[in-house]
Amino acid sequence: MDNNNTFKVNCEIIDMRYPLDELLDKKSIIQLKIERIDNESDRERLKKEIEDYTGAIEKYVEDGVCSAEDVDRWFKELYGANGIVWDLETNIRKGQIGEMSLDEIGRTAIEIRESNGVRVRIKSKIVGAVGIGYRDIKINHASMEIGGFKGGVQGVGVMRFLFITKPFFIEPLGIMHLSSVVKNAGHKTDLITTSEDVESKVKEFKPDFIFYSIMTGDHGLFDEVNGRLKEKHKFFSIAGGPHATFFPEMLKESSFDAVCIGEGEKAIEEFLKDTESLSVPNFWFKTSSGIIKNGVKDLIEDLDEIHFPDRDIVFKYPEIRDGPIKHFIASRGCPYNCSYCFNESYAGIYEGKGSRVRFRSVDNLLKEVKDVVEGSPTRFVYFQDDTFILKPEWIKEFAMKYPSEVGMPFHCHTRANLVTEEIVKDLKAAGCYSVHIAAESGNDEVRREVLNRNMSNEQIIGAVELFRKYDIKVMLQNIIGLPFTTLKNDFETLELNIKCQPDYPWVSIFQPYPKTALGQRCVEEGVYEGDFSDMGSNFFDGSVIDINNKNEIINLQKLFAIAVKNPDLYYSGVLQKMIELPADVTREKFGEIYKMYRKKADEILYGFEL
Ligand code: SF4
Repeated sequence: MDNNNTFKVNCEIIDMRYPLDELLDKKSIIQLKIERIDNESDRERLKKEIEDYTGAIEKYVEDGVCSAEDVDRWFKELYGANGIVWDLETNIRKGQIGEMSLDEIGRTAIEIRESNGVRVRIKSKIVGAVGIGYRDIKINHASMEIGGFKGGVQGVGVMRFLFITKPFFIEPLGIMHLSSVVKNAGHKTDLITTSEDVESKVKEFKPDFIFYSIMTGDHGLFDEVNGRLKEKHKFFSIAGGPHATFFPEMLKESSFDAVCIGEGEKAIEEFLKDTESLSVPNFWFKTSSGIIKNGVKDLIEDLDEIHFPDRDIVFKYPEIRDGPIKHFIASRGCPYNCSYCFNESYAGIYEGKGSRVRFRSVDNLLKEVKDVVEGSPTRFVYFQDDTFILKPEWIKEFAMKYPSEVGMPFHCHTRANLVTEEIVKDLKAAGCYSVHIAAESGNDEVRREVLNRNMSNEQIIGAVELFRKYDIKVMLQNIIGLPFTTLKNDFETLELNIKCQPDYPWVSIFQPYPKTALGQRCVEEGVYEGDFSDMGSNFFDGSVIDINNKNEIINLQKLFAIAVKNPDLYYSGVLQKMIELPADVTREKFGEIYKMYRKKADEILYGFEL
């Protein structure tokens, strides 16, 4: 078969000769060679040879010649992960179509992989009129694309990455960062939301990979979408986002092929270099022999290294492109450990793997903001950082440069215990229009003991006053329906807001998110008995924990802001009576009132109608 006009495909277990040949005393080197798989008996023969091979290993373990750990270690030494790699070696003569086309080689590789559960890598020796070169051809999980020859060397396949997410009202920066990584590696990306025709998009775009960005509460929906797509299409599916990060074990019972944990940029970059590798950091893979779990890569220390998020992928939606507010992020991580927040758990995943808090340089951030505001209709900039004011010297530099570089009003998140007059002055000088401050509770003990937030009511009141002094609008964040608290505590939160009079008193209902300290405590103390699938993806409509006065809490959430602005409603006792009304009487009406107020509040916070 090896003549100038044909492609030759040899398939052999090469690497396994070491160290098993030593183990087998060099008597029985296991080596498989095939020319091609084109009938059932070839397929059966391969399967049997692999079974014999793995059987031989198991027997050696059984007989005590070596331990399972030894085998595991050798595999890791060889490949960096558990698994067998088959190298398909091909000779491709440029311009000549031989007995086996490139498509056939691709299909063969996929068949070997799928019928035997092993990984396949293709190496090609390319013999062309302008030279000879070697290049790995990327075989993805469903198809193979070959680019043109360059200087006698075969191009690398272009892969298609489809992101699927829930509908969004602000730019999904996480996905946009990953899209940049994929595009910068020379591949194609697209995005679709679950409220669109996902099926048609998959048919038209033919993705090799589908990446789902999943929040806890939405995991069932995405699993169902993926399962349905897999019935008709071939692609490799990856679950990412917070749910996959904190619940990677969900991979086992789901329809996904892999999960990507934590910071995805470097992980996806490595995945793209070898999509058949099972040792990609941050990834867990589902294989026929179980889940392969890889550890996380170090956190990205220098955030300036990251490509700017791919805005094109979301600007195809006119409401995002033309929306007056554009979102950005200057930093990653938070040094605090509030019990209801993912931050502590996230830091645990990355223990010893880099700095917990990292900031982009001011110049790098401003370059992105400038590019975006100049290239799209933008009236307002929103910084999404957990705590924008962590580094006073960074804020000072930002305040000096932002007005001349961008000069557009902006909103950012602050923390009451960090607010000083100096910082507020700098924010004002920069052009800050409004801020978030999280009070969460109006009771110092609840805030400290339940929420692990060490700050006092006085600090919160002082911070709001300082912002008011400099004419910066404040949205005060609160949580009601907290576990281990009472309705009386929720009224204390209301009273704190009445005292502060923020421009917008925002309130949510507590949800026991998995892998948060407080979520965990709820489970341990029997306050929450669900499996997290009963939690909706919003935190305004209900409570899943076992707490008294649920109906009152849900009603209070709807009327909270109005009561803050009209304290008589509370102090007269009318509010108490209103929140006691049954759900069927109140929910729809109160919901409408809440929506109306929310719209007005947005105008207050941004200075224009949305
Ligand atoms: S300050 Fe905010 S981001 Fe940081 S741990 Fe607390 S809730 Fe989470």
